Amino acid sequence: MSNTSKTDVKSLTKTELFEFCDKLGLPRYRTDQIFQWLYQKGAASFDEMTNLSKDLRSKLSEATYISRIELAEQQKSKDGTIKFLFRLSDKDKDYKIEAVLIPDFFPDGAANRLTVCVSSQVGCVFGCAFCATGKMGFFRNLSHGEVVDQVQYINEVSLKEYDKKITNIVYMGMGEPLHNYKTVVNSAAIIADPLGIGLSPKRITVSTVGLTKQIKKLADDEESFNLAISLHAPSDEKRDKIMPINSSMNLESLEQAVRHYYRKTKRQLTYEYLLFDNFNDSKEDARNLANIVKWAPSKVNIIMYNNVAGVELHRAREERLDTFIKELSKNEVRATVRRSRGDDIDAGCGQLAIREGAPKGKTIAK
Ligand code: SF4
Repeated sequence: MSNTSKTDVKSLTKTELFEFCDKLGLPRYRTDQIFQWLYQKGAASFDEMTNLSKDLRSKLSEATYISRIELAEQQKSKDGTIKFLFRLSDKDKDYKIEAVLIPDFFPDGAANRLTVCVSSQVGCVFGCAFCATGKMGFFRNLSHGEVVDQVQYINEVSLKEYDKKITNIVYMGMGEPLHNYKTVVNSAAIIADPLGIGLSPKRITVSTVGLTKQIKKLADDEESFNLAISLHAPSDEKRDKIMPINSSMNLESLEQAVRHYYRKTKRQLTYEYLLFDNFNDSKEDARNLANIVKWAPSKVNIIMYNNVAGVELHRAREERLDTFIKELSKNEVRATVRRSRGDDIDAGCGQLAIREGAPKGKTIAK
């Protein structure tokens, strides 16, 4: 039987995999074994599943196949950041996605936090002005298997390079995660599963440009991973200029959704704020930002922008960053600064894929 008429076993959630195994008359522990091979050990074929009998392995490969992303390119920066370009398994397309391993080190040079930034879509429909992925347009959603593959692969690299497993995951790579809600929820469940990657949901963060319905749904569904709101501008006027989503979901509607989220979860809110030179980095911008975030316990991550070729916005200067931070702290806002990483390897999301010459997909940008 060709793969096209078979089920991709990694398109199934754990419950669906259990039902599938149950129909084959297999006991529960077989589901656990197969699940572990797929997501913890990254098995690319049933033959690798050596604790299953030969008969069972051939029965499984008659009915199903295992999809797997493949490494197309890997670059390591001087600062230890490693960027991965993966090829997806669509035979007739040349889809590629990116993921990044970002290490932090203790003073003695040993690895501390090892954060993986994963992609959730091929391209993105939202067309933010500062984003390389936004320039590609949208091609397709990733499956939960394709998201976990990125994490599983990079976890092995992390062990080899830094002698330590990954410690944190952020959904901040290519794509808007909440535009692919089901995949994000299903992949986060596998990442948190002890038979999957085994990372606590507290160490998983999903970022969004502000899809209001989905933010409310996350709270209603009681998902326990963290949420980060990509704000990037402190007024509708400025946000409209750089984020087309703001014309349909402005700051007021975003605040309503976030209030709903906070009422239900009582979790501290995290805002991401890319600091652009002479665009959103004045004292007044800092005061406006404080007014947006101060109503609930919150934290602002100021991100120093990785300049992207062809984009007019540029990284803010150090002295403006200092003034901005001081003004935030005067207004009692807790802020941390995330320095740009991997400058020497195109680590800004989408830069590798664009360089690889992806054609233009769907977009909502004007
Ligand atoms: S910043 Fe996020 S939502 Fe905006 S275009 Fe890039 S990937 Fe899409």
